[in-house]
Amino acid sequence: MAKLKFYGAAGEVTGSNHILEGDGVSIMIDCGFFQGVKVCDDKNNEKFPYDPSTIDALFVTHAHLDHVGRIPKLFNEGFKGKIYSTPPTREIARLMLDDTLRVIAREAKADGHEPLYHEDAVQKALAHWETVPYGKEILFKNGMSARLRDAGHILGSAMVEIARNGKKLAFSGDLGNSPSPLMPDTEHLSDVDYLVIEAVYGDRAHENINERTNHLKQVIEETIARDGTLMIPAFSIERTQDLLLELNEMIEGKQVPEIPVFVDSPLAIKVTKVFSDSKSYFNKTVQDDIRSGDDIFKFPKLRFTERSQDSIAIKSVPNPKIIMAGSGMSNGGRILHHEKNYLPDPKSTLLLVGYQAVGTMGRLLQEGIKSVRIFDEDIPVRAKVITIEGYSAHKDMNALLEFVGTMQDSLKKVFVVHAELGAGLFFAQRVRDYVGVDTVMPKAGEEIEIDF
Ligand SMILES: [Zn+2]
Repeated sequence: MAKLKFYGAAGEVTGSNHILEGDGVSIMIDCGFFQGVKVCDDKNNEKFPYDPSTIDALFVTHAHLDHVGRIPKLFNEGFKGKIYSTPPTREIARLMLDDTLRVIAREAKADGHEPLYHEDAVQKALAHWETVPYGKEILFKNGMSARLRDAGHILGSAMVEIARNGKKLAFSGDLGNSPSPLMPDTEHLSDVDYLVIEAVYGDRAHENINERTNHLKQVIEETIARDGTLMIPAFSIERTQDLLLELNEMIEGKQVPEIPVFVDSPLAIKVTKVFSDSKSYFNKTVQDDIRSGDDIFKFPKLRFTERSQDSIAIKSVPNPKIIMAGSGMSNGGRILHHEKNYLPDPKSTLLLVGYQAVGTMGRLLQEGIKSVRIFDEDIPVRAKVITIEGYSAHKDMNALLEFVGTMQDSLKKVFVVHAELGAGLFFAQRVRDYVGVDTVMPKAGEEIEIDF
């Protein structure tokens, strides 16, 4: 027998943290931030509800902060085990945690307390962090073995498959919106008895990929016709690179005229470099393009503005132009400078391509607010604000159900995590109805015994 314990992303979409405990071995899957309006929600300050020194190993599914944010804190509270992930996940997590140090220091200062952790804890985590390729077996003393499988979500993302006594348990991590522009399709899993699955979009269907590309093209054409600036607040991992790949195709394919495109985020620029160095992790189509000589992150008039003086100089580049910058929800980062400059301009457009959390400026803009406060100034919003759905890196409700359906013959029980209560319960019911498998949505702190 073994126990599954759910300590985060249980009944909510962030704070991923699960433990499998059986026969003297404890394996943790992910240890991420709880996130809301703040990058690091106050809830992260609470002590872990278990003793981290008793955990043997931590598997990291991918480098998003809601999966890696609390790893350094684990070391501050006694964790001594090894961390395993794919090589790109370790590399991107290193960049994310480094960037996070600055963000959590700023947020903590504003709230008048100490940051959650400092650089020494990040260094400890990296020193204990080993990389393994997809498919390689890691053995534990009680006979458990673990393997990473490609989740197709973001670069290096993995599902974790754990086998023991002829039975198999799989943690989905976040599941890719296959087919994705850059990533391979989610790998097929077989003979899975127990499945812990994310369901962020458990109750929603996505816009079709072709519609979203046409929509983007139309927004660019309108920007050119009006001689405006197109601002795209973009997340640093995957979204920025997906957009670059699409722009690369549109511009090199002469579907839209060449206009200046700026990637104005030091983090996104560093992450794009990791993508460039990890070409074997792309899907076959993109790998074939690269082999035929196309540099997918290079096209006429594309510029990466890492230094702040280059960022400031974007203002003097005549319209039309496209600026991609972080943060993705306009709650910080260089996008704020551009929004201050161009939101008052009726010729300009703000294009939202990612989830905008309640309480963020991005959400207010999405909902049509007429004036926003940026750097202590009231900024009138006269620019067009447009949302394109369909850039999600997650499977939608139908793809999730289809994924579970492929394991129908072997599945004994499904655990739904990483979903808001409504979406998760809705998805759990659909799995029961359509796949016919016992499905539950664990509560935070819940422990469930399984025959494993
Ligand atoms: Zn993710």
